[in-house]
Order: sequence, then C-alpha cells, then structure tokens
Amino acid sequence: MTKKLTPANLRPDSLAVHGNMGHDTHANAVSFPIYQTSTYINKNFGGDIDFSYSRCANPTRDELEKTVALLEGGKYGFAFSSGLAAETALFSTLSAGDHVVIGDDVYGGTYRLSRDVFPRYGVKFSVVDFSCPEKVEAAIKPNTKFLYVETPTNPMMKVCDIRVIADIAKKSGAKFIVDNTFMTPVFQKPLSLGADVVIHSGTKYLAGHNDTMAGFLITSDEEVYNGVAYNRNTEGAALAPFDSWLVLRGIKTLTLRMKKHEENAIAVAQWLSKCKAVDEVFFVGLDSHPAKAIVDKQCTGYGGMISFTLKDPSIVRHALCDYQMIMFAESLGGVQTLITYPLTQTHASIPKEVRDSIGITDKLLRLSVGIEDKEDIIADLASVLGE
Ligand SMILES: *Cc1c(COP(=O)(O)O)cnc(C)c1O
Repeated sequence: MTKKLTPANLRPDSLAVHGNMGHDTHANAVSFPIYQTSTYINKNFGGDIDFSYSRCANPTRDELEKTVALLEGGKYGFAFSSGLAAETALFSTLSAGDHVVIGDDVYGGTYRLSRDVFPRYGVKFSVVDFSCPEKVEAAIKPNTKFLYVETPTNPMMKVCDIRVIADIAKKSGAKFIVDNTFMTPVFQKPLSLGADVVIHSGTKYLAGHNDTMAGFLITSDEEVYNGVAYNRNTEGAALAPFDSWLVLRGIKTLTLRMKKHEENAIAVAQWLSKCKAVDEVFFVGLDSHPAKAIVDKQCTGYGGMISFTLKDPSIVRHALCDYQMIMFAESLGGVQTLITYPLTQTHASIPKEVRDSIGITDKLLRLSVGIEDKEDIIADLASVLGE
C-alpha cells in the first residue's frame, strides 16, 4: 500500500523542507510568499474571516507557526518578535500571587524577567538547580504555576531529566516549560517527554544565519494556548511577515545544519579537551559530562554548544579576539562559529555571587560551533590557544 505523505507524518528532514503547506496555493509559487500586508479586505460582513489584521494573524507567520509546531510535535505554535517576547507573553498569563520555579542557569534576559520585571506585578520566583529533582520538589508551593528550565543550560551545559521533572510537574499541577533553543526539535522533543510548553529563541538555530530575531512558543495545552493567544494579540509582539519568511527559509536546512553543527562540535570538544591552555570542557557529548546518560536517553544528538575554561585568565582577551575566522560576538546557533564571554556579554546582568556559584567566572568562554570545515575551526583555535 502506498503511504499517504502528510505534514503530520513526514520525517523531520522532509518536514523541515516542506513545512505545513510547503507552497503557495494562490500562484503555485514554490517559495511560500511574504504577505507584506497589515490588513485584509473583509469579504464576509458580520461573519468569520481567517485574516483581519496582521497583529492577529498573517499567512506567512501562520505557515511558520504551523511548521514549528509540527517539528516540535505540538498542536499550537506562536511566532514572536524575539525569544524574550515569547517568554514575556507566557509569564504575563500569570497573576499577582502566582509562583514560578525557574532554573538557576538560564539565559540572562530570562533571569532579568524573573528578577526585575514580573516580581513588580506580584509574581514570585524561586531559583533552583533542576539537575537535582529533590530541590525542585522542595521548592514547589501550593501556588506554583510554572516550572521553567533550559536543558542543556546556558552556558554551563547542565542537564535536567525532562521525564522526571514532567512527573513532578504533573503531581503538583504546575505547567512544565522547556526552553529548547540549544537542542532544537532535531535533537530533543520536550513535549514528547512530558513537558507542557516549549520555548525557543528562534534567533538562534531555527533561523540559523545570525540575520533575524524571532521567538516561539509551542504547546498542546488548551489553557496555555488560550492565555498566550489572548496576550500575544493584546500585547502585540507577533513576528513580522518578512522575518517569518526568513525563519521559514532557515528551517529548510535545520536538520542538515544541526547534524553538521554536532559533527563539528564533537571534533572541537575533543580537541579542546587535549589543548594545554584549556582547563575544563563542558559539552554534553563528552563521556566526562556528568549527565551524558540522561542526554543519551532523552536526546538524539548533542548539539553545537561548548563552554570551556582557560587555565590562565590573563589570556582571555587574546582567546576571544585574535582569531582569523571565528568571531567574538554574542548569540549562537548560526552558521558562523562565534565565541562569547558570558561574564560581560550574555550573563552580565546576573549578580556576581550567583555567577560564581554556577561557574560563570572570568575564565569561562562559550563557543557556538558553526558549520564551517571543522579542520579550519580547529586550526583557528590552535593558532590562538596553542595545541
Ligand atoms: C537567546 C536566548 C534567549 C532569548 O532569545 P532572544 O531571541 O534573544 O530574545 C532565550 N533562551 C536562550 C537559551 C537563548 O539562547
């Protein structure tokens, strides 16, 4: 019997290329069109229309949202103007008196939302190391609404067992949210492991070329869907049509890129582990990673992110700035290899005591390994760090 190929049963490589509708049905364009419009003629006075105003819905964004939802295995997807806009829409569904348990090693902007913004509206946060499930259980209160994690974390690559935390969340009635920016659905599908919501900075691997900002929220939970749909439309941080198209275009090569990022990262992590200037290497694909067994259970790959410490902090400037190809820049997940200094860049807003306690010191560097030839990446690193 011939298999009927639908977006719901396409394999990931095909789904990434073809997306939800794949092509345009109006002019049969192979590339999905950019509907660069703010509004739509109302042809159904008094009745329902699919598109009325582009903050509410836009066909290009719709195609992207449905594609990302399919990739993550969720019912609903929302595209936002950035990852932090997605997080803001989610947290703003909470009310004064609600409580959130959040990971102790989250993205700097996420940390600022939890420390500076939402507490002013009466939402309380407890900061916990999610690699210890006992600590998560102990932090839950009767008013806990969300458990919020990144796994692997940024930049320390700590891992939480998604199934174990999902069980804790179910028992307590809290929703479990996983920021899946680092692994992408190519290597990790949190909804299939029991999470309720997936968040992405689409600026990173999904867009993939360091040329667009975007954010995503994916869920199959009706309550979360209704709250976020209302808030996104009301707060207004939906992704613009052109940026939606850029991310759709990026996603076509997502599975290919992730495999190459990973292949390169494995080679670079092994090289760094032997490099004399380097002290510790944090990469979830190394046998020395304390949670490698959990990663092997819940992921189908290791991703492209590596952090490492230098033995001698006095060479930090040289170890960040003096490459021929690798660029010293914030962000990650694009085709170019970038090196970042979490202390003064991505994690500058985290207080020193907290940074020290999780290991974000003056010796810690983070590499987003790109898709160049791995021999060139390693040669560039060797030219600065020595063998
Ligand atoms: C970059 C990043 C964010 C924030 O996303 P923006 O698109 O920059 O707003 C959130 N989580 C992680 C893991 C990130 O790397």
